[in-house]
Amino acid sequence: MAKMRAMVVRERGGPFAAEERDIPAPGREEMRIRVQACGVCHSDVVTVQGLFPIVQYPRVPGHEVIGVIDAVGEGVQGWKVGERAGVGWFGGSCNYCRQCRRDNAFACENAHEISGVTRDGGYATHMIARASAVAHVPDDLDATQSAPLLCAGVTTFNALRHTGAGPGDIVAVHGLGGLGHLGVQYAARQGFRTVAVNRGRDKEELAKKLGASDYIDSAAEDPAKALTAMGGARAILATVTDGKAMEAIAGGLGANGVMMVIGAVGPLTVNALDLIGKSAGVRGWYSGVARDSEDTLNFSKRNNVASMNEIFPLAKAQEAYERMLSGKARFRVVLRMDG
Ligand SMILES: [Zn+2]
Ligand SMILES: [Zn+2]
Repeated sequence: MAKMRAMVVRERGGPFAAEERDIPAPGREEMRIRVQACGVCHSDVVTVQGLFPIVQYPRVPGHEVIGVIDAVGEGVQGWKVGERAGVGWFGGSCNYCRQCRRDNAFACENAHEISGVTRDGGYATHMIARASAVAHVPDDLDATQSAPLLCAGVTTFNALRHTGAGPGDIVAVHGLGGLGHLGVQYAARQGFRTVAVNRGRDKEELAKKLGASDYIDSAAEDPAKALTAMGGARAILATVTDGKAMEAIAGGLGANGVMMVIGAVGPLTVNALDLIGKSAGVRGWYSGVARDSEDTLNFSKRNNVASMNEIFPLAKAQEAYERMLSGKARFRVVLRMDG
């Protein structure tokens, strides 16, 4: 029987172990993907550290996957072997529950599926995905370069397009890491006056090159005051991992402004008076479903949005994961399966 390779978390805390396994057959409404590349996302900590009670071991992490359809299970329509495929955090939906019927497939009441968390993900040469979780990938998009668009990309792209901001409105991207460097590109290409906000000046030049028209050094000046002086932000994309930093910028929202929280910071305090007087809001944002991933990939291709990556072979998943955790990668870490 043909074998596949996977980097497996065998117990809570890791480490990653290389395993050779039989290549599984897809079940009903599932497909098998031959993985070409998989991004290493900070949310993979959920799997490695067992942060959600639904994580069971052994488990293969990975939810920034690009590959090729390798086998199609019973009942799958609209897909054939050889087509390019992408999988993100969204692990699929039932299409008939209350939430699915209301176009909220991300909150499906039946399929509590997260790629690489509730089922094996993309740190492997092959994976099985629910067909409802799989996105079409444009032909000429490089797998290794584009894998992070399946989580970091769709999260920032999709949050930004749901802020209610229009062309020319002030949109601040808070934090210039793996999420923020994509957020700046999407905000600029979606037509916003894009303000990059980060501590220090070392990423200012890069932020401007990526499309930011303004830059605020949040270590040197109060970012809320700086945004207010510009007229107030119609949206803030909060990508940082520090709740205090988010609190410090929330006051920079303008009239009807919304802060889209995509950094998982835990408890977050905001001044209600700041919100009431401006009819402003703070909102969390789920990454996106398969069709959001397709929109992200197509938009990225047409508008030359690219993730900046550090590449590792699959066998070095441990090293890649630690590099991601260090916060020093510029900016995303990607596993390539052929190396
Ligand atoms: Zn992710
Ligand atoms: Zn459902």
